[in-house]
Amino acid sequence: AQAVFRSDLSHLLGLMGSGKESLIFMKKRTRRLTAQWALAAQRLARKLGGAQRDQKQILVHIGFLTEESGDVFSPRVLKGGPLGEMVQWADILAALYVLGHGLRVTVSLKELQSNLGVPPGRGNCPLTVPLPFDLIYTDYHGLQQMRQHMGLSFRKYRCRIRVIDTFGTEPAYNHEEYATLHGYRTNWGYWNLNPKQFMTMFPHTPDNSFMGFVSEELNETEKQLIKAGKASNMAVVYGKEASIWKLQGKEKVLSILSEHMEVHGTVFYESQRPPEVPAFVKNHGLLPQPEFQQLLRKAKLFIGFGFPYEGPAPLEAIANGCVFLQSRFSPPHSSLNHEFFRGKPTSREVFSQHPYAESFIGRPHVWTVDYNNSEEFEAALKAIMRTQVDPYLPYEYTCEGMLERIHAYIQHQDFCAAPGPAPAGAGVPKSPLVLAPNATHLEWARNSSLAPGAWPPAHSLRAWLAAAGRACTDACLDRGLVCEPSFFPFLNSQDAFQKLQVPCDSTEWEMNHLYPAFAQPGQECLLQKEPLLFSCAGASAKYQRLCPCRDFRKGQVALCRDCL
Ligand code: UDP
Repeated sequence: AQAVFRSDLSHLLGLMGSGKESLIFMKKRTRRLTAQWALAAQRLARKLGGAQRDQKQILVHIGFLTEESGDVFSPRVLKGGPLGEMVQWADILAALYVLGHGLRVTVSLKELQSNLGVPPGRGNCPLTVPLPFDLIYTDYHGLQQMRQHMGLSFRKYRCRIRVIDTFGTEPAYNHEEYATLHGYRTNWGYWNLNPKQFMTMFPHTPDNSFMGFVSEELNETEKQLIKAGKASNMAVVYGKEASIWKLQGKEKVLSILSEHMEVHGTVFYESQRPPEVPAFVKNHGLLPQPEFQQLLRKAKLFIGFGFPYEGPAPLEAIANGCVFLQSRFSPPHSSLNHEFFRGKPTSREVFSQHPYAESFIGRPHVWTVDYNNSEEFEAALKAIMRTQVDPYLPYEYTCEGMLERIHAYIQHQDFCAAPGPAPAGAGVPKSPLVLAPNATHLEWARNSSLAPGAWPPAHSLRAWLAAAGRACTDACLDRGLVCEPSFFPFLNSQDAFQKLQVPCDSTEWEMNHLYPAFAQPGQECLLQKEPLLFSCAGASAKYQRLCPCRDFRKGQVALCRDCL
């Protein structure tokens, strides 16, 4: 059936269930954003013309909200606990519903079982039951529960699962055998899914799909009003928990800040107990989301002290006309050196509190400075107080942008299809790879009929041999492009090296997440034996990696120009 855009979200609110504080928070958000979603649906419908959109039957199982996983977040919703995940799930539900798909939502194991058709108490039922859903969106907790309760169906149907995974899962951690052999084992990884089945909160890991969330949008009148009403000396500090004020070495920065600006906070506190923040801070306590937005509308500056990492709030602040000031991390934080990231299935290095704000938005909206350097910090503050900035929201974080992206994923991503014959198979003489006229990189001949169903389309491929020690993620960014792991199979051949005029004295096929690559000593060309290990992330001084890049739409990095 054809999916039809929906603009009335009241039925969705019914599907979301009730009782838990987290669900109440999510439903309030959905209700508040209804008009915005409806408008976005109209715009996207116009943009897509009458394009065929198949209606899917979708199960959304929010594992972290189930009692069976401990549900540690719901009781903390009103106490300063993390809200980013709930923001994101509320928006995912809204987007799927607005796009017109058939939706079921479960937040308990019992509901999950009944929706999967598994009789209660028959958790380890060895039979494969036909799955009544085309797609399942869940998280790591939900994935665990499904593996436990779906019996053999889990293996058969796991290609239909999408895992919402804030910080991302790199291929080396996802592949069970490889992770175990090479020390990439964590509590989360080793699911052997296609890495694109993991969906992140920010577009930081091109090996995964970027899911995102939305921020509230302003119309022109509101933007003008906000600009006129800004208090140039008002700062709001990022963070709902008192602990962010206790991070060491901040005294100096705080005293400079308080000299120049009136400092506001939204730190949760119990009514009987005074808030644990410095006396000069005007603390509002944890605010309901709309009131938090109102506060941001008046403020000039939203300032981060290093925690929480990569949340929604800085985008909301920038959308409401604030400048976001944050500290540079040097050395960068990662699972190797920071408690918060320890055990997460990624080696990604985080160079500031909010890398997306730093590299996708930047000045004048975002300033990333060294907080250990008081002069640099003070100069930034003064400059910020003097500059006028417009409210700004990247397209990919608008409702329309999120609808567009999820629409494209649902229509094009298929991880159940049997892998076709290797398109550029080793040594196929007529591979469509061609050396670009400037002889720096490879392209895919536009008129080639090989790899017809590829998405993104194969002709958006641009492939380089990166410098030794450079990851493909960075090598592509260096060229204003993004790494596209689905193109690795097109490059994984001797033919690719030959066309790039790289002299291979020998060729090996091995399991290694850095392959395909070239090793200078010995002039070895190294090819990937395990498709699940194709990885944009990862680098070693020993290898020059062969990197597949593609273009992207301005403000929608998940999609290439011809991806819609
Ligand atoms: N927020 C709120 N009240 C406040 C402060 C923040 O409702 O007093 C909301 C904010 O609008 C944002 C959400 O909390 O959407 C999550 O923000 P954050 O970036 O702090 O991420 P988290 O660490 O909670 O996941």
